[in-house]
Amino acid sequence: MRVSLLLSRFAVKAPGIHLRFSPAVLPETGANLRFEVRALLEETRAAGMWLAEGLSWWGRNPELSRALGDAGFIGMTWPKQYGGAERSQLERYVVTEELLAAGAPTAFHWFADRQIGPSILRYGTEEQKQRFLPPIARGELSFAVGMSEPDSGSDLASIRTRAERTDGGWRLNGSKIWTSYAHQAEYCVALVRTAPRSDDRHAGMSQVIIDLRNSHGITVRPIIDLPGRHDFNEVFFEDTFLPDDCLLGSPGDGWAQVTSELAYERSGPERFLTNFHLLCALIDVLGGSASAAADREVGRLVSRLWALRTASVSVAAMLEAGGTPNVESALVKDLGTNFQQELPEVVRRVAADEEICDRTLLDVLGQVVLASPSYTIQGGATEILRGIVARGLRLR
Ligand SMILES: Cc1cc2nc3c(=O)[nH]c(=O)nc-3n(C[C@H](O)[C@H](O)[C@H](O)COP(=O)(O)OP(=O)(O)OC[C@H]3O[C@@H](n4cnc5c(N)ncnc54)[C@H](O)[C@@H]3O)c2cc1C
Repeated sequence: MRVSLLLSRFAVKAPGIHLRFSPAVLPETGANLRFEVRALLEETRAAGMWLAEGLSWWGRNPELSRALGDAGFIGMTWPKQYGGAERSQLERYVVTEELLAAGAPTAFHWFADRQIGPSILRYGTEEQKQRFLPPIARGELSFAVGMSEPDSGSDLASIRTRAERTDGGWRLNGSKIWTSYAHQAEYCVALVRTAPRSDDRHAGMSQVIIDLRNSHGITVRPIIDLPGRHDFNEVFFEDTFLPDDCLLGSPGDGWAQVTSELAYERSGPERFLTNFHLLCALIDVLGGSASAAADREVGRLVSRLWALRTASVSVAAMLEAGGTPNVESALVKDLGTNFQQELPEVVRRVAADEEICDRTLLDVLGQVVLASPSYTIQGGATEILRGIVARGLRLR
């Protein structure tokens, strides 16, 4: 409801400029797929492979990723020759939605499946596609994303890590920060400077694939986050040699390449379903005997969730049709992450008012409360997203 109100307000302020949120439906094949994913999740959970917890997709479980890979749920949209299943973006959406709804820990393959694999498919050499895509699709290969640097987060174009030409490859110096799972992933795809800065601040950057396990001159230092977990890292490169075939795409095209990934990164259901199992846990605990006030709170949450999902499916349909809905994705991410930041606050309030002492609910709530400040920072901070939307609507 809030999404449509917001959109109509934008339309009034910016006559002639339209946000495209055309109604879209998930494909009929999605129904079967949904049951297949649920069956696999039930089976693997019953076998003790994983537990739903407050972390949701931020949890990392290589065994579950391999099971999902075996079932064809990773790299689903990629060509079969590279280990994919040639499914549509909308079918992938259904699978992602089910994984999130169950709170399944999928970080092992998440970045490779969502953005690195598609980039390799689009910009990589034939050798890179054959080398990396099949093991990613089998859930065997994990990637980290190396974009942010100290002093270069929102202003990514100001990165300083540089790769210079040397015999047979490149010599890398500099550092990355907030690199999730760099201490566990096999590879990292990093945005680095391959030419000095010039008047065109988006020129001179390239993407490189770094073998984190077998390269010299790499130091990975942990950063412990608010919930006390070691997911983030600082990664230092000191004369790290990268072979010629590390380059992903053409030298100097790095900026265009990373920005083309953003619509995929921002509009997905993880932007509003990361805490879905918390909402379900609340509804379970309330049962049919909640007060009218609690019913109203839950009703508001569910209606917002539905509006967000409608907008997100619409973006997925645009991506499937080959569009680049960057403005719409930024809007979905902003509204979605604000929703999921408010959700634990509402659950906390309802739990207090209804005097709920359910241990499972309160444990999940505790983890979500500590994780939720990060939602509006990762993948583009609130102010940055609103700037994109404002520019897209020519409001600034
Ligand atoms: C959970 C999590 C996981 C992450 N994982 C990764 C990862 O795997 N790889 C990776 O490369 N990075 C990762 N990041 C880093 C993330 O991309 C950056 O934190 C984010 O881009 C913001 O950059 P920053 O931290 O430098 O903050 P800053 O850019 O310094 O921003 C600080 C604040 O200032 C505001 N601000 C900045 N510029 C402007 C402006 N021009 N106008 C108005 N306001 C502004 C921002 O909106 C924000 O509120 C992760 C972050 C989180 C929270």
